[in-house]
Amino acid sequence: MAEQRLAPCAVSVSVRGRRINEPVPIGRSEFQRDRDRIIHSAAFRRLEYKTQVFVNHEGDLFRTRLTHSIEVAQIGRSIARRLHLNEDLVEAISLAHDLGHTPFGHAGQEALNACMKDHGGFEHNLQSLRVVDVLEEKYAAFDGLNLCFETREGILKHCSLAHAAELGEVGVRFLSDQRPSLEAQIANLADEIAYNNHDVDDGLRSGLLTLEQLSSVRLFSEHLEEVHKVFPGLAERRVVHETVRRMINSLVTDLIEQTESNIRRYAPTSLDEVRSAPTIVAFSQEMHEKNRELKSVLRTQLYRHYRVMRMSAKARRIISELFQAFMDDSRLLPPQFAPQSEQSKARLVSDYIAGMTDRYAIREHRRIFAVEEI
Ligand code: MG
Repeated sequence: MAEQRLAPCAVSVSVRGRRINEPVPIGRSEFQRDRDRIIHSAAFRRLEYKTQVFVNHEGDLFRTRLTHSIEVAQIGRSIARRLHLNEDLVEAISLAHDLGHTPFGHAGQEALNACMKDHGGFEHNLQSLRVVDVLEEKYAAFDGLNLCFETREGILKHCSLAHAAELGEVGVRFLSDQRPSLEAQIANLADEIAYNNHDVDDGLRSGLLTLEQLSSVRLFSEHLEEVHKVFPGLAERRVVHETVRRMINSLVTDLIEQTESNIRRYAPTSLDEVRSAPTIVAFSQEMHEKNRELKSVLRTQLYRHYRVMRMSAKARRIISELFQAFMDDSRLLPPQFAPQSEQSKARLVSDYIAGMTDRYAIREHRRIFAVEEI
């Protein structure tokens, strides 16, 4: 991307660079190199078998964390391009943002956090950073992927203050109440646009969510009405897709317009000014409300559907039983996760479990607990 196209408030180059100095890449930017390293990581490949809402084996058409991350990158790049911000940085952050997720989605993460209560807790954003900073073992000169500061900062979307204080420069913004780059702000909302909309699509496909239940959601019903009007008699699957694509489009368009207006209002001319300004990348108040409506219906009708709750209960049981078994007897761990000390044990067990795919966790649980397995 030609640098002169970028807005003055964009991240044009990595000012704070990498933790370990490396030669400048040839033929690609520093952020393109970050993206490439993320795509070639083992953690990225595992996203294919990690749940978003539906467990991987429930159906081949449902989103996984991998397809979710690709959708986030697509939406994020579209927004960045329109705003003359750094697409490559948005793409790198988007593709890496979920690398630290446990198997079984939020149920898995809550279970692991509960297990780690007396050992520093478990936060998936922090774990994503841990994957790219420490856990990937690929390079001769360093652990992790040695990504640029700006990419790492974007990956760390949320973080408790206690953890922020231990993280060095990448945690500073949480302590000093500063914002991250506009590129990181875009990746954050692209994530939200992606999952709300694909959960509508997957929810309807699975039959757990009905058109009727979504009729109270303005963002959905307004577009559904339009699709029915323009294409009377269209098959339902196409109706759903035509509706969801319009929802995504209206969210993206609103976000771009509101953000443009916020950029004019706060007029940041550098990344430092972005950091001290209020959050700039945002929906309009009206769209924010509509989005909230959608989230609330998804929460009550889909995420708390009894079939999702059953899977979540199984997930919690698998995660906590695995954790307990490894804590009780660390000789059950594969040798590369063997703890050097009592203190490091819980974190190693947590890293091992967090890295598992859904199906690996199910199999590992069977290997540990089922007497007929070896
Ligand atoms: Mg996500």
